[in-house]
Parts: sequence; structure tokens; C-alpha cells
Amino acid sequence: MRDPRNTNEKNSANAVDPELHPAPIEIPLEWDTPMYRLAVDQLDQTAEQMNLDPNIWERLRAPQRSHVVSFPFRRDDYHTVETVFAYRVQHMLTMGPTKGGLRYDEDVNLGEVTALSMWMTWKCAIMNLPFGGAKGGVRIDPHTLSSDELQRLTRRYTSEIIEVIGPDRDIPAPDLGTDERVMAWMMDTYSQQKGYAVPGVVTGKPIEIGGSYGRREATGRGVISCVTEACRDQGRSLAGSSVVVQGFGAVGSVAARLAAELGAKVIGVSSLGGGTYNPNGLDIDAVESWFKQQSGDDLRDYPDGDAVSNQELLELPCDILIPAAIQNQITEKNAAALRCKMMVEGANGPTTLEADAILNDRNILVVPDILANAGGVTVSYFEWVQGVQQFFWSEEEVNRKLIDLMQSAYRAVDQLAKEKQVTLRTAALMRGIGRVKQAKHVRGVFP
Ligand code: GLU
Repeated sequence: MRDPRNTNEKNSANAVDPELHPAPIEIPLEWDTPMYRLAVDQLDQTAEQMNLDPNIWERLRAPQRSHVVSFPFRRDDYHTVETVFAYRVQHMLTMGPTKGGLRYDEDVNLGEVTALSMWMTWKCAIMNLPFGGAKGGVRIDPHTLSSDELQRLTRRYTSEIIEVIGPDRDIPAPDLGTDERVMAWMMDTYSQQKGYAVPGVVTGKPIEIGGSYGRREATGRGVISCVTEACRDQGRSLAGSSVVVQGFGAVGSVAARLAAELGAKVIGVSSLGGGTYNPNGLDIDAVESWFKQQSGDDLRDYPDGDAVSNQELLELPCDILIPAAIQNQITEKNAAALRCKMMVEGANGPTTLEADAILNDRNILVVPDILANAGGVTVSYFEWVQGVQQFFWSEEEVNRKLIDLMQSAYRAVDQLAKEKQVTLRTAALMRGIGRVKQAKHVRGVFP
């Protein structure tokens, strides 16, 4: 890993004065994993190009607070009690409460949650939201849980982290493997402990307890706003363009449906087990209702398309590829084989650094995750604001405000990319990191 303080060695005009900037304190890298390294490498590359103050740069590489807990979890058979590991990482507390999703996944670890919390910081700053980044994770396969088990797990996790969350402190939301129900149980557990209802402790909750219209579809809608802007920029029309979507969950299924509504031909979609391909275009409503009737998480047997694996799906010829499943999907192994003209990242961290460079060399426009999927946290912010005001907006109003913010963020990032001659990812990082840097400068160092 590069050292923030030595980065300007090559450029003597900007060299860091060793008198002013002594050797860095060793960062204890308990959270060092491939995903954390990706997030830090992105930060390092951008910080170098921005000539970022090494004090701030080093500060941003490590999360401000990392909570690791383990707790007993009773299965429905009553006799089996498992020890479960879980996390809540708050990357940056400078600009307001921290904000970010909670994922249930059997592979989740401290490094992954830390990387995701860092991306949340940039996401919030790019969208100009008054939050720092956070993320939570529980290491368990949610597909193995009954509804009762899911509820018990959620309530115990919430009580384990109860001291570090709160409407003015840190506000969880849904992510991979969690949904509105999980948010309702979190809100209830927190409220029971406080003795009064605290809807603002989570976002992405059901409408009945203060959720926002449009939150469920917000990430997918934000992705499609970016697709529309990127198409405009490339002189292409979304109507008639061919689209492939990896992932058919909360983000992918909405992105596919909205793309089809805008006249795009969605030729491929996939879920965990695999996907379906029809070069003449899929009827997304029909795919959705067929998928709902299946017990597994697999689209290969959909009758009106050809079965494809998730890897094959990514390499289908198309105008627009939307990876909206999980991280680490586009790597140096398949980046040269992609046949899309642009890629808009609905998932967090789907592309490795090496793959990013290959796509850039191949002139494939990449709209990065921290911009493209920021619609979710943006409507989470709207939900939080509506809760504070106790004044709720219509779905049209939420969607209009979301599209406005996404479009202006896209344009600002695009303009910066053109001005600095950098990729959209670097420009988005520059905008996010730049905002955080300014906030840290004006607050100063305590004591
Ligand atoms: N989990 C979502 C994300 O990765 C949303 C976070 C939020 O709404 O706070 O952006």
C-alpha cells in the first residue's frame, strides 16, 4: 500500500516537507482485505491526483469507529445456539450522523464493511447530504433463516449496537439480504429500549411507521437517471438501446423495469443462480411475476429466454450493462471480454481497479457506483428529513426531487471529469473527497 506522505517524491515542486509531515503512524490494518484495499487504492489514486493534504489523506484511509460484536443466536429448533459475528463501521463523523446500509451475508467481514462505509462517505458527499459514511454487516446466510429467526437475529444485533446508532448518531438502512421488515424490527427494538417510538433510527422502513414513498425503488431509479444522463452525453437514446442487468433484487429489477418503461430493450437479466437472455427483448413484468413464483434465486429456467450463467450474461453484446448484484464481478479476467458500450454500476464495488483501467483503455464509459447507486441514500435522506419535519411528501414529489439531485450530481461530476481529463470514477471521488477535506479543514483538530 502506498504511503500518503511519500507520494509527492516524484514531483519536487509539491514535495511534502518531512519537517512538517513526520513519518506516518502505522495504521493497524485489522480491516485489511481485498475489498478494503480496493477502496483505499481508489482513495490513494485520487488523493495523489488532487494533491490532497497528507494529514487528511491518511485520516480518510482508516474508519473512525469500528464495532465488532459476537452474540448467541438461537435457531428455531431451540437447542441449536450459534455464535454470530457482526459489525458496524462508521467511517467519518465530521459532517453529521453517519449513514449506510446493513447487509446479511455469509461472507461479510470487517474489511468489506469498512470499504463499504468509506464508499458511503463519498456517496453522501457527492450528493451533498449532511452525513458521513457507515455500514453494518451480520455474517450469516439469510437464505437459511426462517422469518422468526430473521427477526430474532435482527433484534439481538440491534441491541448489541444500540449505543452507537440513533437518529442523530448513525442511521442504518437496507442493503444486501435486508429489507423493510428488518428495518421495522430494528426500529421497534431501538424504540422499546428508549421507551418511545424513534422512527428516525432507520430509513428504508415501511410507510406505516414513517417510511418514504419511493424509497424502495430509489436506488434503481437513481441508476436509470444516470443511464439517461450518460446516454445524453454520448448522443445516444435510451429508447431502443439494448440493456443487460446483472442482479434482480431491489436494485436490478427496478432498473430493468424502468429502463423498459423508457423504451429500452432489456435483453438479459440474472439472479444469484443465473440469468435469461432474449435478443428480441424480455417482457420485464412477465419475468418479475414468473420469478416471484419460483422458490430458488435463479432465472435460467425462465421460459421465454435462453439460460446464461452470470459470467456469460456480463459478456453479452449490449449498449448498456448494469451490474447490480454484488462486488468483484468485473475483474482483469473478464474486462477485455465485455461487449457493452457503457457500464453503470448499481452494485457497490463491482469493478476491480485493474478492470477499471482495461475498460478505460477500451473507451467504455463507466458510471461509478458512488454516483450511480447514490439514489438509495438520497431518498433515505428524504425519509429522514420528512421524519424530522413530520411532514410527508407524495411519491411524485420524492421521485422528482431524486431525479433532480441525481441529474445535477451527474452533470457536476461529468463536468469535473472533462475539466480534469479524468474518468467519471476519479471525478466522483474528487468531488466526494474534496467536500470531506473542506469540512475537516474548517472544523480543525481537537484538542
Ligand atoms: N445500502 C444502500 C447503499 O449502499 C443505502 C444506504 C442508505 O440508504 O443509508 O447505498
